[in-house]
Amino acid sequence: MMYRTTRGGSGEKRSAQAILQGIGEDRGLFVPASIPPLGKDPAALASEGYRAVAAWVLARFFDDFSEEEIRNCVVSAYDDKFEAEDIVPLVEAGDAWFLELFHGKTAAFKDMALSILPYLLTTAMRKEKEDKKVVILAATSGDTGKAALEGFADVDGTEIAVFYPSEGVSLVQERQMVTQEGANVKVFGIRGNFDDAQAGVKHIFNDAAMQEDLARRGYRLSSANSINIGRLVPQIAYYVWGYGRLVLAGAVRPGDPVNVAVPTGNFGNILAAYYAKRMGVPIGRLLCASNRNDVLADFLQTGVYDRNREFFVTSSPSMDILVSSNLERLLFHLAGDDGPATAALMQSLETTGRYEAGESIRAGLTDFYGAAADETATKVAIATLFQSHGYLTDTHTAVAYSVLRRYRAETGDGTPTLIASTASAYKFADAVLAALDPDSAERGFAAVDALERLSGVPVPACLRGLEDRAIRHTAVIDPTAMGETVAALYR
Ligand SMILES: *Cc1c(COP(=O)(O)O)cnc(C)c1O
Repeated sequence: MMYRTTRGGSGEKRSAQAILQGIGEDRGLFVPASIPPLGKDPAALASEGYRAVAAWVLARFFDDFSEEEIRNCVVSAYDDKFEAEDIVPLVEAGDAWFLELFHGKTAAFKDMALSILPYLLTTAMRKEKEDKKVVILAATSGDTGKAALEGFADVDGTEIAVFYPSEGVSLVQERQMVTQEGANVKVFGIRGNFDDAQAGVKHIFNDAAMQEDLARRGYRLSSANSINIGRLVPQIAYYVWGYGRLVLAGAVRPGDPVNVAVPTGNFGNILAAYYAKRMGVPIGRLLCASNRNDVLADFLQTGVYDRNREFFVTSSPSMDILVSSNLERLLFHLAGDDGPATAALMQSLETTGRYEAGESIRAGLTDFYGAAADETATKVAIATLFQSHGYLTDTHTAVAYSVLRRYRAETGDGTPTLIASTASAYKFADAVLAALDPDSAERGFAAVDALERLSGVPVPACLRGLEDRAIRHTAVIDPTAMGETVAALYR
């Protein structure tokens, strides 16, 4: 299985090379030359446990890794750092199935991929005889940063620097990042939003002179964002698992379709569901749920992507994004794996902030349904799920539930649906508490405690005592200073 980029210019790479490199020389994203069939029954796989599913899916895509290498990565990643014994529990509530992806070390779904990426990356370094230190750069809308820091802290041969919007993450998210320990970790707030942080990281990747300088000093750059194919592929596994578990639970007959609803920001999670569908998992519609930053919902409805719009800070900050990187991979596939056509769209996005998809892409978008839930709809979803169904959910997952309800009302499609449940409610305690108890005056860590009293759901161990941990990272910089900051760090 070889990898090429969405812009057609970087030649073919083994998966280990693609993981190490993170992004193509032509600035495109690595994609598999073909999408492998699953080749096994999801229910049979799921009956062997989560690790078996993950190992099987990874081996389909990363066939330059030995079976033993894959197994070691999977076993090291999906162990008792997850608070749930089966790693990803499936919970039925409110006529939907919640695929709980947030039981890892940082209480968000980013742990599913970032628990394993450091192992994949260090294995790739050995395989490719990489002698430089790998510097991981990560832009974060709040959850990737902490998950990447936990994953890479004190991992030999690596350094990590994380950039987050200093005014655009929740209190718990920020505190998780700025208290991170580890000799190789750096954390910066930036005066800007996630798009600024992501653009800054991409700019550094595109700066050939800087990369040469770093290389002379013994460093090479890689990415922990979902532009890295090593992060995307592990996410496919939980859709295979989710489908298999539904069959085992008797909720669907083998082969019958399920829909998938995903709260979407950078389009990584839902793209993994699309890959699972292309592998042959019986997935029907892919429901792409946006918050008030509804650029994706508009695109899926009209075929026109236009980021020239107001940016909103919402109660679901991990989806406050106007430039969704992974959409580039979908465009590439729907255009018939056409690199030059995809490059032209991305060029248009860069210069004008918009592009119009052609016929073949538009035809492929019918697999998707896009809609947005505003702040009121998000609150209603949180309240409905808890008050009518006894299920506590975070703001992002609530956006997906709201969009699912709307989809069902509009279409009458009652297909059983998996909702990617992406974070613990406690990461967004202020907003969740406000939805459940509008009169409560508690905020910050007091809101975490109040929410625990109100819901009876225990706070995840990783968030306990967070308010007492020492703050280690206090720098806040301009997005334009990201390049010089990185250059100064690694010399
Ligand atoms: C990152 C994140 C999302 C968005 O996922 P993408 O893969 O960027 O689309 C949704 N919810 C939560 C809680 C997240 O951390």
